[in-house]
Amino acid sequence: MMMDYISTRSAAAPKDFAAVLLDGMAPDGGLYLPRRWPSFSASEITALRGKSYAATAFAVMRPFIGGMIADDALRAMIADTYEGGAFDDPDVAPLRPVRDTIHLLELFHGPTLSFKDYALQLVGRLFDHVLEQKNTRMTIVGATSGDTGSAAIEACKNCRNVDIFILHPKGRTSELQRRQMTSVDAPNVHNIALEGTFDDCQDIVKALFADEAFRADVGLSAVNSINWARIMAQIVYYFTAAVTMGAPERDVSFVVPTGNFGNVFAGWCARRMGLPIRTLGIATNRNDILTRFFESGEMRIEQVTPSLSPSMDIQISSNFERYLFELLGRDHDRLAALMTRFRQDRFFTVEDVLMQRAHEIFQARRCKDPETAATIAQIYTETGMVIDPHTAVAMHAALDLHAADPQTPLAVLACAHPAKFPDAVSRATGTSPPTHPRLEAVKSLPEHVTTMPADTAQIAAFVRARRNG
Ligand SMILES: *Cc1c(COP(=O)(O)O)cnc(C)c1O
Repeated sequence: MMMDYISTRSAAAPKDFAAVLLDGMAPDGGLYLPRRWPSFSASEITALRGKSYAATAFAVMRPFIGGMIADDALRAMIADTYEGGAFDDPDVAPLRPVRDTIHLLELFHGPTLSFKDYALQLVGRLFDHVLEQKNTRMTIVGATSGDTGSAAIEACKNCRNVDIFILHPKGRTSELQRRQMTSVDAPNVHNIALEGTFDDCQDIVKALFADEAFRADVGLSAVNSINWARIMAQIVYYFTAAVTMGAPERDVSFVVPTGNFGNVFAGWCARRMGLPIRTLGIATNRNDILTRFFESGEMRIEQVTPSLSPSMDIQISSNFERYLFELLGRDHDRLAALMTRFRQDRFFTVEDVLMQRAHEIFQARRCKDPETAATIAQIYTETGMVIDPHTAVAMHAALDLHAADPQTPLAVLACAHPAKFPDAVSRATGTSPPTHPRLEAVKSLPEHVTTMPADTAQIAAFVRARRNG
């Protein structure tokens, strides 16, 4: 039952689930991982067959909570999250055949139509529950270029013990992305349109986190993708999909459109817990730091260039540290030394013997914009299915991996609904832009947003004045 968590960077005292949830990052700058991995036997995996998404979620996540949340409360939160109306498909994460042994795992049935809802909708409820137990409040401050803010806002809008402030660069997000955030009308949700760039937004958030007094006064926190609870909640759909494709009797594979390595790392966790996953495909766009790493054994930072799949336009993959720690045999000192070198020199290398081990599981592929568009067109012509640019990057990799291993059932993670990227999709298919009722609805709602100058002191004063409690 007991479950505690360690940091990747030092052998500091272990933490329990509640502390890991609220902390996000370990005090030594490392990321949290469970000290021991729970494991599922073949018969335990078989027992998940035919179970609802919520029931599977309870079975998969319960060991990670380690008794910090009572079973009844956990079960109720999971039911509220996945069966309370936020997800618009009865299967929550349905698996659709594409062709041959290739499937699409649809992860766009949540409120903001991206896979981030699957974890964040639960994490918001977990936050609220743990804060209630501790009789305290928290203030989340974050910056978004447009694509991630809405999932965090939707996750927190019903939280009684959380205020959320999201900064976006005024006039520099798409209208649809802005409206997904600003149409939310809740007393604890605060949208700030910053007169500046996305970098200005990030700099201000960083400055606020660096201000110790401010941090303590408002109970400052973040919901970024390094939070362990997000990874934990993402493990669930690997189990539901694998069982549907025939596990544990059959091996299965997944291909994941990858940015910060959170989603694909959840797949690695599922495998570590006993799910028979043969290959995890890492699909990157032209911002291909991970693909270059798997080709060369060298992780090297380069400039980010905008692509058709903006949620994967990243310079470094922050969650990769978790896998690297495992690959190094959980050697804190080596990991910490590599991370220090990475920060100083902007690169590090990993020796061949470890790369061979990594290649037993991971296959990385890159997909440039013309190939992304061509893949959207190809899938549309062959099957009538419309996929978004992120899904297309993964599908491009999947077609290649499938050719080398046509027998193993394979699921491509469809991480966003095509209606979120109407221009790129309609240009590729030559048809009218895809729509979704949830996006149509926000187009006519009033907006709730405060325009502010790019000034840290003014933003800090605004947060102090507007937060509740
Ligand atoms: C966030 C996001 C990704 C990247 O996921 P990571 O967990 O950061 O690797 C890929 N596709 C879409 C649509 C996303 O929103």
